[in-house]
Amino acid sequence: MGPFSISERDPWPLGSFTALDADSGVRHGVTTRGGPTFGTDATSQQTADAAAAAADALGLTGAAWARQVHGGTVLRAHEPGLAGDADGLITDAPGLAVLGRSADCPLVIAVGRRDDGTPAVGFAHASWRSTVRGITATMVAMLRDDLAIDPATITAGIAPSAGPCCYEVGEEVRTEALDRLGGDAARFFGRVSGRWHLDLWSANLAQLKASGVPTARVWGTDVCTICQGERFWSWRAQGDDAGRFAALIGIAP
Ligand SMILES: [Zn+2]
Repeated sequence: MGPFSISERDPWPLGSFTALDADSGVRHGVTTRGGPTFGTDATSQQTADAAAAAADALGLTGAAWARQVHGGTVLRAHEPGLAGDADGLITDAPGLAVLGRSADCPLVIAVGRRDDGTPAVGFAHASWRSTVRGITATMVAMLRDDLAIDPATITAGIAPSAGPCCYEVGEEVRTEALDRLGGDAARFFGRVSGRWHLDLWSANLAQLKASGVPTARVWGTDVCTICQGERFWSWRAQGDDAGRFAALIGIAP
């Protein structure tokens, strides 16, 4: 089995990372177009119902989500429901999933351990705007500073999302990335047919690595939602018709 696979299960298919499945203290999953469709509106009943269904499918008691605003803010979630305006959430509450919604944007999910072995989890919604604001590095820093997680113990998965094969961006995106992340960020951009392509997978892997997460504990999928995303919503491929899928992770109750 590869590092990421989709299993047909009741009530709908669910993607998962082998490395996270191996951790009995955590439950996680990536929903597909065959599962509940999350709304673009974080305050909608559709989003609330889908979040509750996804948590239930994993045997978790509820899910916390955010109004994703393409910023750099990560919040700590304490209870199910809308946690606020943020592009990342962390929690150490058993049974509570933190849930990110996407149609192309990478969702990074992570679990780490304290010295006493107890876990905490988090997700980051790593759109380009949030990536250049360091959202994934901030998630790790908050797990460390607020929840006493050692970054060296973190296992992370980067869910299916727009890949470097297809994620074309304008010059202004590259300019902002270099401004905010420094000249080193130039390596995340490639030139394809006269246009820039941004590798969000590498950019977020770099943030995890720089934050002290071992590279060997970070898993991707090689599934690009734009060109091979039959099973996942893609805003670039489907436009306004695209729903949202989710990646969620929680501590086993
Ligand atoms: Zn692609």
